[in-house]
Amino acid sequence: MTCKVATAAAANLLLLVLLVLQSAKILLAREDYKDYKVYQVQPQNDEQMQILLNLANKQWELLPTWRNESGIKALVSSQGSGELVKLLAEHHIEHQLLIDDLSPFVRAQRAENLRSKSRYQLPYIDVLGGFYTHEEINTYLDSLPERYPKRAQIRHMGWSYERRALKVLTISNGDGRRNKPVILIDGTVHAREWISPSMALYIIQQLLDNDAENMELLEDYDWVIMPVVNADGYEYTHTDSRYWRKTRKPNDNIECIGTDLNRNFAHEWGHEAGSSSDSCNETYRGARPFDQPESQVLRDLLLSYSGRLSWYLSLHSYGNYFLLPWGYTRDFPDNYYDMLDVATTGAMAIVHATNGIYTAGSTYHVLYATSGDSADYAKAVANATVAMTMELPAGGFSGFDPWVSHIEGIVTESWVGVRAMANDVIRRYPSNHDHK
Ligand SMILES: [Zn+2]
Repeated sequence: MTCKVATAAAANLLLLVLLVLQSAKILLAREDYKDYKVYQVQPQNDEQMQILLNLANKQWELLPTWRNESGIKALVSSQGSGELVKLLAEHHIEHQLLIDDLSPFVRAQRAENLRSKSRYQLPYIDVLGGFYTHEEINTYLDSLPERYPKRAQIRHMGWSYERRALKVLTISNGDGRRNKPVILIDGTVHAREWISPSMALYIIQQLLDNDAENMELLEDYDWVIMPVVNADGYEYTHTDSRYWRKTRKPNDNIECIGTDLNRNFAHEWGHEAGSSSDSCNETYRGARPFDQPESQVLRDLLLSYSGRLSWYLSLHSYGNYFLLPWGYTRDFPDNYYDMLDVATTGAMAIVHATNGIYTAGSTYHVLYATSGDSADYAKAVANATVAMTMELPAGGFSGFDPWVSHIEGIVTESWVGVRAMANDVIRRYPSNHDHK
């Protein structure tokens, strides 16, 4: 009898395991983007653009990708693709199927990355040779103060929702002068934008390892760099879902996880035109401003430099844009044209170096309305003299997924722009300047 009960219990357990495995398989299939398609969509006017923006991420998990000269890439499941194509045809919007099944490409890229990274032993990393996880990046960051005791300082600023350590690196020239003005750079606010942490790491290496060439950037300024803000989301893109954007904190609606950190900041938070109140939407702003631990950490970091924050630069991808405040209104901040001059300096340096074309302007005018983004907050509340979002170049199939072999081209080009803008900021706002 006991034995039979035990057997029945074992059978039930087995059934349960099978069910779990089965649902895990379904989940895995979805997260691996089996049969997901990529379309190139070419809106011809603002009306068509608006139709696409309205579609993005509501019905078909369209990636809300940015406009560029070659149009928009839309990623859609096979179930959703029929309806999408029908709608595009109805509105006479040009489109073309680029990829019929994304999954082999996602697998190939993961394999390329793991293979390439395995050649290096942590804490050493090859920024140009792989995309590193949050944990790997932290291991690298933690090793820097030992290698550069006078010039690198690591701070543990807080924890992500899933208890990952959020770390910030301060780089100086080691002269011991305190309270220099600051250039503050963050990366990986959006999880899937993998070139963003790579760029942050490349900047770190330029300032620390390539110091002979870049020492003048540290003469009167300190650089504060947080390579990964959205640690949970970023980790999730490495382990599960390559194109995840938001955080991983659950919402009241258990169907949908995560908040868009770049809509969660308290300045002019909650405008319907620039964010979503729907927790299933990719631009969900959260239930309240700063209800995400990661945005709280970035807020505290920004505020800790209020009064000496000359340049706040948030690294995103993609689309080749220098985006300035404001995102929430068509109006401009007081020193908008100074900020635009800095951005133009970056854009021109890049054109000279590589022919890469950047567009500069306010987020509202160049892209579309955003509300509660970090650059608006840095400008309005943390008193950043120049606040800017840099949309790095596209790569790979969706734009968010450059191959490892493309990292070098993107980050070296982008460094030309960042370096030129830093020099411009330093020249415009010398260390004794009044930030008001
Ligand atoms: Zn982004």
